[in-house]
Amino acid sequence: MKAIAVVPKVKNSAQIVDVEIPSIGDDEVLVKVNLVGLDGTDREINEGHYGEAPAGDALLIFGHESLGEVVGTGSSVKSLQMGDNVVATVRRPDDCINCHAGEYDMCLKGNYTERGIRGLHGFLSEFYVEKEKHIVKVPNGLGDLAVLLEPTSIAEKAIRMAFLAQKRMIWSPKMVMVTGTGTLGLITAMLLRLRGLNVISVDRSDDEYKENIFSRLGVTHFNTDKINLHDIPKKVGMQVDLIIEETGSSSVALHSMMVVGTNGVVVLTSITGGDKKIEICADCFNQGLVLGNKAIVGTVNANRQDYEQGILDLMAVEKKWPGVLSKLITARYPPEDIQMALASMKDNIKTVIYFQKK
Ligand SMILES: [Zn+2]
Repeated sequence: MKAIAVVPKVKNSAQIVDVEIPSIGDDEVLVKVNLVGLDGTDREINEGHYGEAPAGDALLIFGHESLGEVVGTGSSVKSLQMGDNVVATVRRPDDCINCHAGEYDMCLKGNYTERGIRGLHGFLSEFYVEKEKHIVKVPNGLGDLAVLLEPTSIAEKAIRMAFLAQKRMIWSPKMVMVTGTGTLGLITAMLLRLRGLNVISVDRSDDEYKENIFSRLGVTHFNTDKINLHDIPKKVGMQVDLIIEETGSSSVALHSMMVVGTNGVVVLTSITGGDKKIEICADCFNQGLVLGNKAIVGTVNANRQDYEQGILDLMAVEKKWPGVLSKLITARYPPEDIQMALASMKDNIKTVIYFQKK
């Protein structure tokens, strides 16, 4: 079968390879891949910054945002049938207490593996095999939009973490801010609007295409090249109760902790790989956190419950704002054009690779 693999740590090595279709075990299903979304991790894997091949393998088939159809089931598989549309989760547990309890996204030891990223092949291939327990069945009604489920699960976990952290008090958030307007930022804004919250979106641009999406959702957008992040609460006349930080900028992450209002919470999702240094008033920073009862929560990956909530919310978004989710998928490429697809990501919201022609 056709697959797309990199030589880990080798720049621009993503290429088509021909590999055997894996055989299925009793508790596994064979999935025919339809779409695979690309994200920043995939780009970094192709740039050689990231990625680890399975033990004994020189290549890593990457891609972790999948949508496919079940075309084979092992003898003990009960919850899935031929023809089901499915998405696979990404992380696989190690032997820590959190992983043991099913909280593999909260892994304590860090010896987890991740399909398409770390130690396991991913989904950029015509077929993949996975255990039934790591597969999430998606309703046919979502169609191609289900390829957005993996990034949606990340947003769902971030929101879940915020509300869990805030159980420390009576909390009735009115105004939330999402920093960053990539796929994750846009999906997060949608999920928060679904919950009836006022949503501010910030990034460093005025993009007409995204502005259109914001106006349909009722999201207020600010360009932080034109207004200081710290001035936004005054501008909207309300304190910001929750900030979900998704820019990839550690400076924005740090400033978010100062911008969030009394009793507020900041959820950090950006993986910032550099060694940037900024100067802040440490006393003011600390005092603001203490006197404001503020909480800072880091979050990575997602749990199965976040995928399941994601399905419900993607369907609700599609019902409330029909057609808005499909505006996120702005580029589609065949597997052969993988390098072009990866290069196109900077000008796109979500780029996908299609293995099945429509
Ligand atoms: Zn673990």
